[in-house]
Amino acid sequence: MTSQTTVKTLLILGASGDLTGRLLLPGLARLVATGRAAGLLLVGAGSDPWSPEQWQERVHTAFDAAAETATDAGRDALAAMAKSTEYHQADVTADGPLAELLAGLEGPVAVYFALPPQVSQKACEILRPEQVPAGTRLVMEKPFGAGEESARELNRTLLSLVPEDHIHRVDHFLGKATVLNILGLRFANNFLEPVWNRDHIAKVEIIFDEDLALEGRARYYDGAGALRDMIQSHLLQIMALLAIEPPATIGERDLRDAIAAVLRASSIKPPYTDSTRRARYLAGSLGGKDIPDYAAEEGVDPDRNTETLAEVRVDIDNWRWKGVPFILRSGKALGTKRKEAVVTFRPVPHLPAGFTGRDTPNTLRIGFGPDTLELDVDVNGPGDIFSLDRAALVAELNASELLPYGEVLEGVLTGDPLLSVRGDTAEECWRIVEPVLAAWAAGKVPLEEYRAGSGGPAPE
Ligand code: NDP
Repeated sequence: MTSQTTVKTLLILGASGDLTGRLLLPGLARLVATGRAAGLLLVGAGSDPWSPEQWQERVHTAFDAAAETATDAGRDALAAMAKSTEYHQADVTADGPLAELLAGLEGPVAVYFALPPQVSQKACEILRPEQVPAGTRLVMEKPFGAGEESARELNRTLLSLVPEDHIHRVDHFLGKATVLNILGLRFANNFLEPVWNRDHIAKVEIIFDEDLALEGRARYYDGAGALRDMIQSHLLQIMALLAIEPPATIGERDLRDAIAAVLRASSIKPPYTDSTRRARYLAGSLGGKDIPDYAAEEGVDPDRNTETLAEVRVDIDNWRWKGVPFILRSGKALGTKRKEAVVTFRPVPHLPAGFTGRDTPNTLRIGFGPDTLELDVDVNGPGDIFSLDRAALVAELNASELLPYGEVLEGVLTGDPLLSVRGDTAEECWRIVEPVLAAWAAGKVPLEEYRAGSGGPAPE
């Protein structure tokens, strides 16, 4: 599907940063190589006095990798963008430079805040509405605010500059293909939706286990931890997609309304010693590499008690889900990488007497990136036909030709906020986790430990 960009200029603030180099430019490169960003001007800006050549070199590094697999037309598009790109030095927290930059660029402009969160916030606060040309899109990275109140404050600031549908709060975890795969699975299969409720589902687990440790990211991660970094943002979004009511369309309004309704019904209930767990990794080994204690990693303040693994039980208090636990878990430095949702169905009400062997509840596993599906069913076993056995129906779901950040950028450039987190939802996600953050900060839930490379803390 080709799409028309409505944005003429993509301005990346934080041009020298990690996000820009590692994720944004490669994502953009693959998008450009498909011919879907024709005519777009790329502009980088940062507080460093970079020469135009330094920025061009950064762009080339990312674009060259995409060019290797591109068509001739794709290579031409990449070369044209790399040739026309500009770099501007600007301290965006000072009064004036960002406004001047915006005034000098061909609009509509999408401003990507690839900056530390406090810097992005300050840059937006200092802008005045009359300095933001009509049609400007503001692209905000996570974390969006530091809590419900600060997210609300940031929303107010942004809404004084542009309308809500011109604000893109990025959640790169859910690429477009993954979102649509979940929706297609749920709403295009009549055998599934009638059992997708508390009468037939015992629990839903959403797991993001990483087999990577801190990887030198203490500066950001030690102040965040697993609950803020993964659950507050990404995993609650996946939970919402798995739990929403069927929307009439998959347009942004219907879908984002449905997501907001589910999140408003969601909470983590006290006592938090029952509904949450937190843990920190100890020295161990990952993929043959020795890993030190998290507390001994460079840049970590052990007294912060930052968790590297968080698990919470979310309750969705509505007709469909009352009483069904949604377990959300994410951890670092675990022995096995897992990125999936596991839906466990209730056992059959009565298994006819005479069957032998396993009678285990059905499970549906939805894997993310690559997107996969596995339905475990009980079937009659080989040999003894009375004996039950397990069979797995496995499918690979459609992948996107774009990288997740390419999908995010395509949404921004074509003016489609479908994949962006809406303002009320960003606040709602903080509302859900804030009581837990407070209880953890007050030491009300013990900080458990697990060895790097293990499966996490021992089951309770
Ligand atoms: P970095 O610290 O690597 O980069 C920050 C950038 O901001 C630098 O280019 C820096 O330029 C620039 N900057 C800082 N202050 C100013 C200023 N006053 N005016 C202009 N530019 C300024 O951060 P990341 O790239 O890692 O993160 C950026 C955002 O993306 C954060 O919100 C982060 O949470 C989010 N994010 C990052 C991910 C990642 O993997 N890195 C993943 C997901 C989200 P200079 O050095 O010239 O000051």
